[in-house]
Amino acid sequence: MDFIPDPSLDAFRHEIREAINADLPTDLKEKQIAYAGSQNEPEDSLTWMRILDKRGWAVPHWPVEHGGTGWSPMQLYIFNEECTNAFAPDICWGSSHMCGPVIYTFGSDAQKERFLPEMRRGDYYLAQGFSEPGNGSDLARLRTSARREGDRYIVNGQKIWTSSGYFAEWGFFLVRTDPTVKPQAGISFLMIKMDTPGITVRRIPQLNGESDLCEVFLDNVEVPAGNLIGEEGKGWSYAKFLLDHERTTSSFIFFNKREVARARAIAEAETQDGVPLIRNPVFRDRLTRLEAEATALEWSVLRELSKEEFKYHPTAAASTLKVAGSRLQQAICELEMDLLGARSLRKFAYDAHDRDAAPLWPDYSETVTPRALVMRASTIYGGTLQIQKGIISKLAFDL
Ligand SMILES: Cc1cc2nc3c(=O)[nH]c(=O)nc-3n(C[C@H](O)[C@H](O)[C@H](O)COP(=O)(O)OP(=O)(O)OC[C@H]3O[C@@H](n4cnc5c(N)ncnc54)[C@H](O)[C@@H]3O)c2cc1C
Repeated sequence: MDFIPDPSLDAFRHEIREAINADLPTDLKEKQIAYAGSQNEPEDSLTWMRILDKRGWAVPHWPVEHGGTGWSPMQLYIFNEECTNAFAPDICWGSSHMCGPVIYTFGSDAQKERFLPEMRRGDYYLAQGFSEPGNGSDLARLRTSARREGDRYIVNGQKIWTSSGYFAEWGFFLVRTDPTVKPQAGISFLMIKMDTPGITVRRIPQLNGESDLCEVFLDNVEVPAGNLIGEEGKGWSYAKFLLDHERTTSSFIFFNKREVARARAIAEAETQDGVPLIRNPVFRDRLTRLEAEATALEWSVLRELSKEEFKYHPTAAASTLKVAGSRLQQAICELEMDLLGARSLRKFAYDAHDRDAAPLWPDYSETVTPRALVMRASTIYGGTLQIQKGIISKLAFDL
């Protein structure tokens, strides 16, 4: 493939950058700079989606008839890169990259008309109700049941690790509608309103001081049968389609590029005995390796994008990008933490004491440790490292 940048994309990049600079509210940007890569507040995701929607850019990768832009993969890449570099919040991934594509691919016309505009406009947040205690990687064995009674389903069970479940207005759930057939064939995909009687959401305290992840308990929850997406018993194939969407976009390339630059800035600013840490051979070696890995990852992502028939489908490459990107993310965060030493604990120190006290430590130390802690999860969500390796061995090597 030809890696020579296409000059016609420069004008596009310029237009996007100008628009983001004009539209991104300062408070959202500042919050992101402090929190970058830790967890986005879901409210901020919706605010940013609403702003983007005014330009028709909230879900640029969707088909044009459902509000997408018709941009090429390279244009989408540039758009996402510019958003990350500007410290814009993530948009609601559940609607834009997971449930939305399932609905416009498998939903009825009525469901498309009902849900897609609301999701695109950022009217509400969507939670992903897949994982259960004991059924994460082994999702096909999920136990939450949905029994059909007339024009509704009665849902019972428990989900866990539901990101932003406490804030979400809707959730897309995998439920077992037929326990008598082989596990994959008995699963269905249901839209459930999170304030339906019988639903209890409990937030889980996390290692990094946040509590975005939730447990969701469903006790005789009545769900209209019209909320079934596609066909009953086909939920497993829809979920696979959705998870492949998630994996293909999970190289974290923009985060990695931005954060490796931030690690360099920290290494240049921090000193030991008056000497900048960038001149310490151990730190310099680690940083240089990570910079090389980020460049290699970017070129690998671009190689995938350049393939003429680039589509979201399961490939060994998608899993490889996820493995490489998530490990790089962790390594960069760990380097930032090591560069700062105890000062990387600034957030915890200030949370425990007086946040308004004179800042003894630089701003870039604000959330380094919480971010490194939350990044431990990047090799778990969206399919664990070991599961990805299994996929690679199967798809690439036929093992
Ligand atoms: C931050 C975060 C956000 C998440 N958000 C959501 C969400 O919004 N919605 C949702 O539904 N879920 C969510 N999850 C759950 C996530 O999808 C699961 O944690 C993940 O699929 C792993 O499942 P598990 O936790 O049950 O671990 P397990 O599947 O029990 O795995 C435990 C260990 O065993 C290994 N293992 C399991 N099976 C195999 C195998 N066949 N071969 C080799 N090794 C194996 C795993 O790699 C792992 O190391 C989130 C998780 C995290 C950490």
